[in-house]
Amino acid sequence: MKQYDIVIVGGGGAGLYAAMEILNTDISLNIAVISKIYPNRSHTSAAQGGANAALANKDKTDTIEKHIFDTIKGSDYLADQDAASILCEEAPRVIRELENLGTPFSRMDDGTIAQRPFGGASSPRCCYCADKTGHTILQTLYEQCLRLGVKFYNEYFLISIEENDGVCQGITALNIQSGEIEIFPAKIVILATGGYAKAYWNRSSNAAGNTGDGIAAALRAGVPLKDMEFVQFHPTGLRKSGLLVTEGARGEGGYLINKNGDRFMSNYAPEKMELGPRDLVSRSIETEINEGRGFDSTAGQYINLDLTHLGAELITKRLPQIRELSISFEGIDPIDEPIPIRPTAHYSMGGIDTDKTGRTIMKGLYAIGECACVSVHGANRLGGNSLLEILVFGKIAGHEAALEAKSLNSVSISNSIIDKHKKYFRSLMQPSQYERYGVIREEMGTTLAENVGIYRTEKNLIQAIYDIKKLIERFKRVKVNDTSTVFNTNLVNVLELRNMLNIALAISAGAYARKESRGSHSRTDYTKRDDVNFHKHTMFTLSDGNLDVSYKPVIMGKYELEERTY
Ligand SMILES: Cc1cc2nc3c(=O)[nH]c(=O)nc-3n(C[C@H](O)[C@H](O)[C@H](O)COP(=O)(O)OP(=O)(O)OC[C@H]3O[C@@H](n4cnc5c(N)ncnc54)[C@H](O)[C@@H]3O)c2cc1C
Repeated sequence: MKQYDIVIVGGGGAGLYAAMEILNTDISLNIAVISKIYPNRSHTSAAQGGANAALANKDKTDTIEKHIFDTIKGSDYLADQDAASILCEEAPRVIRELENLGTPFSRMDDGTIAQRPFGGASSPRCCYCADKTGHTILQTLYEQCLRLGVKFYNEYFLISIEENDGVCQGITALNIQSGEIEIFPAKIVILATGGYAKAYWNRSSNAAGNTGDGIAAALRAGVPLKDMEFVQFHPTGLRKSGLLVTEGARGEGGYLINKNGDRFMSNYAPEKMELGPRDLVSRSIETEINEGRGFDSTAGQYINLDLTHLGAELITKRLPQIRELSISFEGIDPIDEPIPIRPTAHYSMGGIDTDKTGRTIMKGLYAIGECACVSVHGANRLGGNSLLEILVFGKIAGHEAALEAKSLNSVSISNSIIDKHKKYFRSLMQPSQYERYGVIREEMGTTLAENVGIYRTEKNLIQAIYDIKKLIERFKRVKVNDTSTVFNTNLVNVLELRNMLNIALAISAGAYARKESRGSHSRTDYTKRDDVNFHKHTMFTLSDGNLDVSYKPVIMGKYELEERTY
């Protein structure tokens, strides 16, 4: 049986940075990365706009202090101030480290790393590689992991986290290629499984695999989740597919235009205009549409993102992927015509509750990246801070885990767990099962988008909770039609749906309980931020199969609560 010092689940930017850091700290450690897809296909590769760091290359007056303040203000004061400070303080170091490892950043005329303006930031501080930043970062990290000899298990699906008396023992995973269930005993497990915005299904910018698997597995293993109700809607998804048009398009000077031809952001954020923070810009677009100033089409109502005045040269040089996506998915070349857009579910601010080293309450279990809630983004993440988070906290957790691994006792997982999972999988294939997973998944996405979207009310949230509980009941009779072992993607999709249903319930229950508006969570029945009653993190745990909601204080620092205006 394989035995590991550290197993990392997830081959995105967070997982690979941690893997690299572990072996740079102690090359003698025996580690493995487990990933349901090939690492360089992880959603990190879809990140377009860039990663923030106060390098002050473009604006010499930019400082780390300003970055910290922008992040905390952007979070609507829900971020933990110690974690947000670490994020911004470490930013220049990790960006320079990537630069030294060969990430091909776009450059200013003087040869320094180029920086573009991003929403909610007081200076242009987003470092980028054209509009393919995530792809280039992930590629750099993957090369480093190969160089260091990291062992990869690709196309392995995490089923469960194994523990004994509150101490992590490793994980169980399905080998998708063979259909075998394999156990991975490990003294430390680092979850880096990415976000959960795909629960909104076809109203999402996320990759199909962003189904919150690690988060749901942690919840089942007794580890609390935090702030799950905060789901970020990105203002500019393509009208038909929800695919992302980076904030960089507005950073480069794009306009948002309604059907009357107005640049309506002047009514909502007169100073920052299109570069207001994401929650504000998404709400503004939704309001324009709701009040009849959107364009009509058979694919739904939309707003125009106009780049035509930027010219062909800038668009082809700085926004090549955006042009490609618009042409392929909307049939529109942004050099000649505006791009039809509407807000799309994009990012999970919530996740597995961790401290600022990535540790969870379970000894030996860490979580990093989008699956974790450390929390640096609070109620609303600033664009460019998430790639940064996966780098900074991937590095910190990797280092901490490398130091801790040697001091931990050996672990073991009983083989009987394999039979337990096999029995469950077989039960899904029985003739008595009849529900179709695609239908349940569609209905889950629809109720989330309709009832737990940008604007939320008590009535809608009660509806969402009712719908999702019914879907969880129906899921008990879900059928896996494919009974083969090799590449049973039907089984994998059903396991992903099980995870998303748990997460959909947490999003809705947290949103129902939070009777205020803060950041991405906008209640039309409680329109004000309520610091007296709700300046606190929402916590989620399972007890006897039921989801419990409780609260825990926000870690404050020198920044006092203030009204958030732009
Ligand atoms: C379209 C798009 C554009 C973005 N642009 C930006 C940007 O410009 N700037 C920015 O800061 N942020 C951006 N973000 C956000 C940012 O890219 C992500 O938050 C970040 O890359 C997440 O990295 P991660 O390593 O945590 O997870 P991911 O990159 O999502 O990787 C998750 C990994 O976990 C593995 N995994 C998942 N479930 C399982 C399982 N059950 N078993 C085994 N393995 C599993 C997957 O195989 C994958 O390797 C963007 C996001 C999207 C969707």
